[in-house]
Amino acid sequence: MFNVLKVDHIGIAVKDLEQAKKFYTDVLGMKPMGEEVVEQQKVKVCFIPTGDSELELLESTAPDGPIAKFIEKNGEGIQHVALRVDNIEAALADLKEKGVRLIDEKPRYGAGGASIAFVHPKATGGILLELSERK
Ligand code: ZN
Repeated sequence: MFNVLKVDHIGIAVKDLEQAKKFYTDVLGMKPMGEEVVEQQKVKVCFIPTGDSELELLESTAPDGPIAKFIEKNGEGIQHVALRVDNIEAALADLKEKGVRLIDEKPRYGAGGASIAFVHPKATGGILLELSERK
């Protein structure tokens, strides 16, 4: 069994992380956390806390990375929505059993040390959905 706990974060694809951060800091007065490069996903990440959840700004570190490809196709903007679950292994097993199309059948490393897995947009009505479990 697993439970969906909350919207963990909203992932936003940006061309230039420093530039994008300025809007949230200078205009909205928000306070970003540190940056992290996740080599596996070819991405540089910055989380910005927003009360109970966060915004995740994502800049590609390679022209063939998933964020670069997303921007090429769609332009900058919301790339995924992440839901916090209390047991990602159980969530993936359950979704698999229900025949839900998954991008990741096993959890992998996500920024900030989370365990994450993506659900295919074809299974969710068009949204790239990330499941995230944090210890
Ligand atoms: Zn994310």
